[in-house]
Amino acid sequence: MTDVIPKSYPEIESFDELEIPEDLLRGIYAYGYETPSVIQKRAIVPILKGRNLIAQSQSGTGKTACFLIGAMARVDKDCNEPQVLIICPNRELANQIYYNFNSFNTYMKLTGTLLMGGTSVEDNFKALDSGVQVIIGTPGRVFDMLRRYALKTNKMKCFLMDEADEMLSKGFKEQVYDIFQYIPKGVQICAFS
Ligand code: AMP
Repeated sequence: MTDVIPKSYPEIESFDELEIPEDLLRGIYAYGYETPSVIQKRAIVPILKGRNLIAQSQSGTGKTACFLIGAMARVDKDCNEPQVLIICPNRELANQIYYNFNSFNTYMKLTGTLLMGGTSVEDNFKALDSGVQVIIGTPGRVFDMLRRYALKTNKMKCFLMDEADEMLSKGFKEQVYDIFQYIPKGVQICAFS
Protein backbone atom coordinates (compact mmCIF):
# COMPACT_ATOMS: atom_id res chain seq x y z
CA MET A 1 0.00 0.00 0.00
CA THR A 2 1.33 3.44 -0.88
CA ASP A 3 2.21 5.21 2.31
CA VAL A 4 0.59 8.58 1.85
CA ILE A 5 -1.35 8.21 5.07
CA PRO A 6 0.12 10.45 7.76
CA LYS A 7 1.65 8.63 10.69
CA SER A 8 -0.70 10.55 12.97
CA TYR A 9 -3.41 7.96 12.30
CA PRO A 10 -2.62 4.82 14.25
CA GLU A 11 -3.85 1.54 12.81
CA ILE A 12 -7.06 0.21 14.25
CA GLU A 13 -7.22 -3.36 15.46
CA SER A 14 -10.98 -3.71 15.61
CA PHE A 15 -13.98 -2.22 13.79
CA ASP A 16 -15.22 -1.15 17.25
CA GLU A 17 -12.47 1.47 17.39
CA LEU A 18 -13.92 3.32 14.41
CA GLU A 19 -15.95 6.44 15.05
CA ILE A 20 -18.78 5.35 12.82
CA PRO A 21 -22.54 5.14 13.27
CA GLU A 22 -23.67 2.19 15.38
CA ASP A 23 -26.01 0.95 12.67
CA LEU A 24 -23.14 0.82 10.15
CA LEU A 25 -21.01 -1.14 12.61
CA ARG A 26 -23.90 -3.55 13.09
CA GLY A 27 -24.16 -3.99 9.33
CA ILE A 28 -20.46 -4.82 9.05
CA TYR A 29 -20.65 -7.49 11.76
CA ALA A 30 -23.95 -8.84 10.43
CA TYR A 31 -22.31 -9.33 7.04
CA GLY A 32 -19.83 -11.60 8.78
CA TYR A 33 -16.69 -9.49 9.10
CA GLU A 34 -14.94 -9.88 12.44
CA THR A 35 -11.65 -8.04 12.15
CA PRO A 36 -10.37 -5.45 9.68
CA SER A 37 -7.94 -6.47 6.93
CA VAL A 38 -4.56 -4.71 6.64
CA ILE A 39 -5.79 -2.00 4.29
CA GLN A 40 -8.90 -1.51 6.41
CA LYS A 41 -6.76 -1.11 9.54
CA ARG A 42 -4.86 1.70 7.89
CA ALA A 43 -7.08 3.48 5.43
CA ILE A 44 -10.61 3.68 6.89
CA VAL A 45 -9.67 6.31 9.48
CA PRO A 46 -8.15 8.83 7.02
CA ILE A 47 -11.26 8.47 4.85
CA LEU A 48 -13.45 9.16 7.90
CA LYS A 49 -11.35 12.23 8.62
CA GLY A 50 -12.03 13.57 5.15
CA ARG A 51 -8.44 13.23 3.91
CA ASN A 52 -7.59 12.90 0.24
CA LEU A 53 -6.08 9.51 -0.22
CA ILE A 54 -4.26 7.24 -2.64
CA ALA A 55 -4.29 3.62 -1.52
CA GLN A 56 -2.91 0.66 -3.38
CA SER A 57 -3.21 -2.98 -2.48
CA GLN A 58 -3.60 -6.25 -4.28
CA SER A 59 -7.01 -7.54 -5.24
CA GLY A 60 -8.81 -9.57 -2.62
CA THR A 61 -7.42 -7.56 0.28
CA GLY A 62 -10.67 -5.87 1.26
CA LYS A 63 -10.45 -2.57 -0.61
CA THR A 64 -14.16 -2.40 -1.36
CA ALA A 65 -15.22 -2.64 2.27
CA CYS A 66 -12.45 -0.21 3.20
CA PHE A 67 -13.71 2.64 1.04
CA LEU A 68 -17.38 1.82 1.55
CA ILE A 69 -17.15 1.89 5.34
CA GLY A 70 -15.20 5.16 5.28
CA ALA A 71 -17.49 6.81 2.76
CA MET A 72 -20.78 5.57 4.23
CA ALA A 73 -19.81 6.85 7.65
CA ARG A 74 -19.34 10.34 6.21
CA VAL A 75 -22.91 10.59 4.94
CA ASP A 76 -25.21 13.00 6.73
CA LYS A 77 -28.40 10.98 7.04
CA ASP A 78 -30.57 14.07 7.29
CA CYS A 79 -29.52 15.26 3.85
CA ASN A 80 -31.11 13.28 1.03
CA GLU A 81 -28.76 14.52 -1.69
CA PRO A 82 -25.78 12.82 -3.37
CA GLN A 83 -22.90 12.92 -0.88
CA VAL A 84 -20.73 10.02 -2.02
CA LEU A 85 -19.87 9.22 -5.64
CA ILE A 86 -17.96 6.03 -6.37
CA ILE A 87 -16.86 5.30 -9.91
CA CYS A 88 -15.24 2.17 -11.27
CA PRO A 89 -14.35 0.90 -14.75
CA ASN A 90 -16.93 -1.79 -15.42
CA ARG A 91 -20.46 -2.92 -14.67
CA GLU A 92 -19.45 -6.12 -12.93
CA LEU A 93 -17.38 -4.21 -10.42
CA ALA A 94 -20.11 -1.58 -10.00
CA ASN A 95 -22.60 -4.34 -9.22
CA GLN A 96 -20.21 -5.86 -6.72
CA ILE A 97 -19.64 -2.54 -4.93
CA TYR A 98 -23.38 -1.91 -4.89
CA TYR A 99 -24.00 -5.37 -3.45
CA ASN A 100 -21.48 -4.71 -0.68
CA PHE A 101 -22.98 -1.30 -0.03
CA ASN A 102 -26.42 -2.84 0.40
CA SER A 103 -25.03 -5.46 2.75
CA PHE A 104 -23.39 -2.93 5.06
CA ASN A 105 -26.47 -0.75 4.70
CA THR A 106 -28.90 -3.28 6.23
CA TYR A 107 -29.39 -1.22 9.40
CA MET A 108 -28.03 2.17 8.39
CA LYS A 109 -30.56 2.53 5.59
CA LEU A 110 -28.87 5.18 3.51
CA THR A 111 -30.32 5.74 0.06
CA GLY A 112 -28.18 4.57 -2.83
CA THR A 113 -28.33 3.86 -6.52
CA LEU A 114 -26.36 2.30 -9.34
CA LEU A 115 -25.69 4.33 -12.49
CA MET A 116 -24.28 2.30 -15.32
CA GLY A 117 -24.72 1.51 -18.98
CA GLY A 118 -27.17 -1.22 -19.86
CA THR A 119 -29.73 0.00 -17.34
CA SER A 120 -32.73 2.24 -17.88
CA VAL A 121 -31.94 5.95 -18.06
CA GLU A 122 -35.52 6.61 -17.03
CA ASP A 123 -35.01 4.56 -13.84
CA ASN A 124 -31.81 6.50 -13.14
CA PHE A 125 -33.71 9.77 -13.41
CA LYS A 126 -36.41 8.49 -11.07
CA ALA A 127 -33.89 7.26 -8.52
CA LEU A 128 -31.95 10.51 -8.57
CA ASP A 129 -35.12 12.53 -8.38
CA SER A 130 -36.27 10.62 -5.31
CA GLY A 131 -33.08 11.67 -3.47
CA VAL A 132 -30.05 9.44 -3.11
CA GLN A 133 -27.06 9.79 -0.84
CA VAL A 134 -24.65 7.24 -2.29
CA ILE A 135 -24.04 6.83 -6.02
CA ILE A 136 -22.07 3.94 -7.48
CA GLY A 137 -21.48 3.83 -11.20
CA THR A 138 -19.40 3.61 -14.33
CA PRO A 139 -18.00 6.75 -15.97
CA GLY A 140 -20.21 6.96 -19.09
CA ARG A 141 -23.59 6.90 -17.36
CA VAL A 142 -22.36 8.94 -14.40
CA PHE A 143 -21.17 11.67 -16.75
CA ASP A 144 -24.44 11.50 -18.66
CA MET A 145 -26.38 12.11 -15.44
CA LEU A 146 -24.07 14.96 -14.45
CA ARG A 147 -24.33 16.56 -17.87
CA ARG A 148 -28.11 16.53 -17.67
CA TYR A 149 -27.97 17.93 -14.13
CA ALA A 150 -29.90 14.90 -12.92
CA LEU A 151 -26.99 14.07 -10.62
CA LYS A 152 -26.33 17.08 -8.42
CA THR A 153 -23.00 17.58 -6.71
CA ASN A 154 -23.55 20.61 -4.49
CA LYS A 155 -23.77 18.44 -1.33
CA MET A 156 -21.01 16.05 -2.42
CA LYS A 157 -18.52 15.13 0.30
CA CYS A 158 -16.51 12.28 -1.13
CA PHE A 159 -15.51 11.31 -4.68
CA LEU A 160 -13.97 7.89 -4.88
CA MET A 161 -12.33 6.01 -7.72
CA ASP A 162 -11.88 2.26 -7.61
CA GLU A 163 -9.29 0.72 -9.95
CA ALA A 164 -7.90 4.24 -10.23
CA ASP A 165 -4.94 3.15 -12.37
CA GLU A 166 -7.36 1.85 -15.00
CA MET A 167 -9.65 4.86 -14.61
CA LEU A 168 -6.77 7.22 -15.31
CA SER A 169 -5.39 5.22 -18.22
CA LYS A 170 -6.07 6.01 -21.86
CA GLY A 171 -9.54 4.51 -22.21
CA PHE A 172 -11.16 6.40 -19.36
CA LYS A 173 -8.95 9.38 -18.68
CA GLU A 174 -11.02 11.91 -20.61
CA GLN A 175 -14.31 10.71 -19.20
CA VAL A 176 -12.93 10.89 -15.68
CA TYR A 177 -11.63 14.39 -16.41
CA ASP A 178 -15.09 15.39 -17.64
CA ILE A 179 -16.66 14.02 -14.44
CA PHE A 180 -14.10 15.91 -12.38
CA GLN A 181 -15.32 19.21 -13.83
CA TYR A 182 -18.58 18.68 -11.98
CA ILE A 183 -16.99 17.92 -8.60
CA PRO A 184 -16.85 21.05 -6.44
CA LYS A 185 -13.49 22.16 -5.07
CA GLY A 186 -12.78 20.89 -1.58
CA VAL A 187 -14.58 17.56 -2.06
CA GLN A 188 -12.56 14.67 -0.65
CA ILE A 189 -10.87 12.62 -3.40
CA CYS A 190 -9.92 8.99 -2.79
CA ALA A 191 -8.16 6.82 -5.35
CA PHE A 192 -7.95 3.08 -4.80
CA SER A 193 -6.09 0.68 -7.03
P1 AMP B 1 -12.07 -7.05 -2.11
O1 AMP B 1 -10.60 -6.92 -2.05
O2 AMP B 1 -12.76 -5.81 -1.71
O3 AMP B 1 -12.53 -7.57 -3.45
O4 AMP B 1 -12.52 -8.16 -1.02
C1 AMP B 1 -12.13 -9.51 -1.14
C2 AMP B 1 -12.99 -10.42 -0.29
O5 AMP B 1 -12.67 -10.29 1.09
C3 AMP B 1 -14.47 -10.17 -0.41
O6 AMP B 1 -15.13 -11.42 -0.46
C4 AMP B 1 -14.82 -9.46 0.88
O7 AMP B 1 -16.16 -9.67 1.27
C5 AMP B 1 -13.85 -10.10 1.85
N1 AMP B 1 -13.50 -9.22 2.98
C6 AMP B 1 -13.12 -7.92 2.92
N2 AMP B 1 -12.85 -7.43 4.14
C7 AMP B 1 -13.06 -8.43 5.01
C8 AMP B 1 -12.96 -8.56 6.45
N3 AMP B 1 -12.56 -7.55 7.22
N4 AMP B 1 -13.26 -9.76 7.00
C9 AMP B 1 -13.65 -10.79 6.23
N5 AMP B 1 -13.76 -10.75 4.88
C10 AMP B 1 -13.48 -9.59 4.27
